[in-house]
Amino acid sequence: MSYKLIVSKRLLSTSIGRLNTSSSTSSNVILGKISEFDSSKFNFNIIANDPPSINDINADPIQLALNSSPINTWTKDQIKQIYDTPLYDLIHFSQLQHRKHHNPGEVQLCTLLNIKEGGCTEDCKYCSQSSKNPTGLKASKLLQVDQVMEKARQAAANGSTRFCMGAAWRDMAGRKSNLKRIGEMISTINNELGMETCVTLGMINADQAKILKDAGLTAYNHNIDTSREYYPNIISTRKFDERLQTIQNVQDADIKVCTGGILGMGETSEDHISFLYTLSNMPKHPESLPINKLVSIKGTPLHDELLEIPKDSERHLKFEQVLKTIATARIIMPKSIIRLAAGRYTMKEYEQFICFLAGCNAIFTGERMLTTMCNGWDEDIQMLKNWGLVPMKSFSK
Ligand code: SF4
Repeated sequence: MSYKLIVSKRLLSTSIGRLNTSSSTSSNVILGKISEFDSSKFNFNIIANDPPSINDINADPIQLALNSSPINTWTKDQIKQIYDTPLYDLIHFSQLQHRKHHNPGEVQLCTLLNIKEGGCTEDCKYCSQSSKNPTGLKASKLLQVDQVMEKARQAAANGSTRFCMGAAWRDMAGRKSNLKRIGEMISTINNELGMETCVTLGMINADQAKILKDAGLTAYNHNIDTSREYYPNIISTRKFDERLQTIQNVQDADIKVCTGGILGMGETSEDHISFLYTLSNMPKHPESLPINKLVSIKGTPLHDELLEIPKDSERHLKFEQVLKTIATARIIMPKSIIRLAAGRYTMKEYEQFICFLAGCNAIFTGERMLTTMCNGWDEDIQMLKNWGLVPMKSFSK
């Protein structure tokens, strides 16, 4: 069935270019089939009359993404074409993709607790918790289960449906009793609060992933941080491929993967494209994709390096690059939950709203974001209300 869609000439010209359906310049034209039309929500997907084939190397990549099941054979050229689409149009298409795969009015609220702070042996240049970075942060021991439960109950009472726990470790080698305690945290949160759980503990092997799976873990976070090319500028103690191996171990254990990165570490748009290339070519797209905006911390090497970059350099992150990264991620990884993570508190409320428009559908909320500030629950619930959004329920994906 075809529907007639009345659109502005601005949108029409873009849509015709993308959908390749008509050369008419009228503002009232049949663009193609519209499926799942729900006029009450204005929730529609435009399906091309003649969908492109995934094997057609000349196909418009946006049209390909909108008309296919999730693809994991993206090329950097295709991703670049999408990323370089004029922002106004890019956000329009990411909205179409978002509404096809998600309830557009829902945003997941997650709370992150640092269950073991500082003293990490890795040398991530941005991190206040690395023992190599003189930030003044003291190393702590792993929290007890009841200490964690107190925070989890508080998060649940405030509307968070995913509880994430981070420990500043390189890996879990020789940490059997700690892993057991973390397993207890996971199962107690599951049983008592019915929340989704996520942990980030550094590198894990297949056996450790299985222990976490058996405890009932929903997702494991292990960020790739940035592009493969830029990565050596940021971390020397852990290889990019070691990160991918941990992600593989997590997927093999049938745990959902949460992986993303940090924008604003002096990288360029080419790095954003390459970062998205790695994520979108994983055998299975990450269930959760956190986009962090660097919070530059005094005492970290990156803090000083960023001050040295000339003001007019393309290596300074612009807000439009954040949006382009989010919107491109939404288009090429349509089912992922895209999480606006650290650094959100530095954004104005309308900037966060545009991130939701571009395809974000999760935020971290609560008292702290590891060692940096976080927007609080009351403020966030009010923000969602302002924009007509509601919190997502647990396990709704
Ligand atoms: S592995 Fe994590 S905790 Fe350790 S230095 Fe890197 S970012 Fe910080």
